[in-house]
Amino acid sequence: MKKSPALLGVLPVSLLLAFLAAACGSSAKDDGKTSVIASFYPFAYVVEQVGGSFVDVTNLTSPGVEPHDLELRPKQVGAVQDGDLVVYEKHFQSAVDDAVDQSGRSAADTVDVSAIVKLKPLQAGAEDGGHDDAGGGGGKQDDPHVWLDPENMAIVTKAVAAKLAKIDPAHATEFAANARRLEAQLADLDSAFASGLEKCRTRTIVTSHAAFQYLAAHYGLTQVPIAGLDPTNEPSPAQLASITQLVRREKITTIFTEELVSPAIARTIARETGASTATLDPIEGLSDDTKGQTYLTLMRYNLDTLMKANSCP
Ligand SMILES: [Zn+2]
Repeated sequence: MKKSPALLGVLPVSLLLAFLAAACGSSAKDDGKTSVIASFYPFAYVVEQVGGSFVDVTNLTSPGVEPHDLELRPKQVGAVQDGDLVVYEKHFQSAVDDAVDQSGRSAADTVDVSAIVKLKPLQAGAEDGGHDDAGGGGGKQDDPHVWLDPENMAIVTKAVAAKLAKIDPAHATEFAANARRLEAQLADLDSAFASGLEKCRTRTIVTSHAAFQYLAAHYGLTQVPIAGLDPTNEPSPAQLASITQLVRREKITTIFTEELVSPAIARTIARETGASTATLDPIEGLSDDTKGQTYLTLMRYNLDTLMKANSCP
């Protein structure tokens, strides 16, 4: 929280010091809570659910910010250094990777999601607009959007609970109970997706960016992304033409847009093909429109949207 210099000028020294202490934030132990730094919303959600009132969670990606191209302020780099636990996914946000590398953190106080879930190679058709920091230094690029599969979120939940229990053993029982509750909710969500998407008239989904491969693969859908992996990329005219043809051929009724990305291209395809548009949320962050929502409610909303668009009875 920034304080204006004019305001600081008239404050007594004691108050000023209090303000400065608050502004420096996330000092680990003074409130007895474990400070956890999460790189973006889905992981912050898991930490909040598992850690409950025993953790202070800092989300490095502010609401409304598109996380792929996140840049960190010096204060956030400091938080990555000082936090009791950091939860992130290597090769998704290079600024976070750099901060973790520089911090000299150990595996004991870091959860790297890319090391505990099974990554899929980037889907064919999505490479054209890849990240500048293509994961794995010249190797094949992996798709980072693992959180859109509830089973992967359950893996993250277990890992976060295990690390929190090591860092704060006095509350291990609470962390384990909270983790079991979230895992049960994720299992319910998984069943709802499996049964909801079992019988659909079409199984192809045209999405704004290539965020839905894990979800699609788990539930037997095929994703056709308009942009590549990074939502700020724009498709070439040839890519647009081939997507338009596919929409007509497969009689797709809905082109999916998303909260944090301009819907202009999706709208163009919809206009040309007579399809409509609907919002499918990659849950990379909350926005003004979704700030009262959670990972679980947004996934339920996504399921409803998919069932309507693909005519799933
Ligand atoms: Zn994405």
